[in-house]
Amino acid sequence: MNTESLITRDKKVIWHPFTPQKYMAEPIPIVKGSGTLLQDSDGRDYIDAISSWWVTLHGHAHPYIAQKIFEQASTLEQVIFAGFTHEPAIRLAERVLEILPPGFSRVFYSDNGSTSTEVALKMSVQYWWNKGEKKRNKILAFNNSYHGDTFGAMSVSDRSVFTLAFHDKLFEVIFLDAPETETAEYGLPWDEIACFIYEPLVQGAGGMKMYSAAGLNHLISLCRQHQVICIADEVMTGFGRTGKLFASLYMQEQPDIVCLSKGLTGGTMPLSITACKPEIYQAFVQDDLLKTFFHGHSYTANPIACAAALASLDLLLKPECQEQIRGIEEQHQGFKAQLQASRLPVRNLRVLGTIIAFEVDKGRDEYLNNISTVITKKAISKGVYLRPLGNTLYLMPPYCITMAELNQVYSTIISILQELAG
Ligand code: PMP
Repeated sequence: MNTESLITRDKKVIWHPFTPQKYMAEPIPIVKGSGTLLQDSDGRDYIDAISSWWVTLHGHAHPYIAQKIFEQASTLEQVIFAGFTHEPAIRLAERVLEILPPGFSRVFYSDNGSTSTEVALKMSVQYWWNKGEKKRNKILAFNNSYHGDTFGAMSVSDRSVFTLAFHDKLFEVIFLDAPETETAEYGLPWDEIACFIYEPLVQGAGGMKMYSAAGLNHLISLCRQHQVICIADEVMTGFGRTGKLFASLYMQEQPDIVCLSKGLTGGTMPLSITACKPEIYQAFVQDDLLKTFFHGHSYTANPIACAAALASLDLLLKPECQEQIRGIEEQHQGFKAQLQASRLPVRNLRVLGTIIAFEVDKGRDEYLNNISTVITKKAISKGVYLRPLGNTLYLMPPYCITMAELNQVYSTIISILQELAG
């Protein structure tokens, strides 16, 4: 395939996400994926060190998932999910409920991370509305959070460069700092709060900020004492990223609603889940038809996506995969120690499960720090794909990454840091 012509055609018709359109780097046409590698139209390989926006769990074009997708696509590709059901959706709900923290009983499907959080927020607000407690309508969220790009999801996200143009269109939210300790005190109008939404332990798009499990546990327990619905947005942290299957498992106190997407299908098909506990669901089982949850999407519970998710779960739950996750964490710890002992320009080194992150000491700590594009360009030229969040450099590789590949990623980072320091 001709690289030049693909780029020229792209530039005529495509508007890329999260990409400043003026002076944007030429997009790299990718023609093939295999394991951790993405291959461009000139035959060059890149290690996908961030799992293509955190979705790819088991590597690209995994033959087992591909086979299951093929089988499902040739049996039942799609059916309206109101009034109909199908085995892949039922089986997936059963299996996800088995591995979630205890107590979850219902699965609501949608198709991406943003819709999974929208659904969670709408469920929570309508829960109180259905119960006639109209005063309970405030929402609690963390500063520096990110829950997606639709209006509800933006409203509960940090007011940042992502949301700037829309501030007067976003609803009000009570924002708190993510807790540093388990003794924090909160003077909040508890009786008016419908729900609390949080990214457990790692604020992803906000710069891979990691915060205290004990502090979060304490806050969830306060919320529960005051009947505030707790929503864990595990869109990024779910399915092993933090070392446990779900980050919520690091806490004793558990949420009432969990949002899942990204790794749900192993990074092959768009799909998301908003799972809830029986009390939430029961508030919608009513004679009054106005208390129905009037929400759904054309592709809700798409059978091919559900089949892909089932296949991804098969792979994820194998002991070998859990071993790979532990192996990545161990190697990250070694790399962290190496960077700590070095004189390279890095700060705030942190590791949780398969995620390592740190700030590169160049310019301001902000998303629009253009060191990010410099690092991406340098890494690409060395056969590694990295996409720092501002000056926050992080890795979140597919679990199939080999030790040799991970070492290649580390040495690429070291050589980039040396160039930046020099
Ligand atoms: N929640 C979290 C925690 C996320 O990290 C993201 C995506 N980065 C989203 C929600 C939104 O997901 P999507 O991009 O699939 O809409």
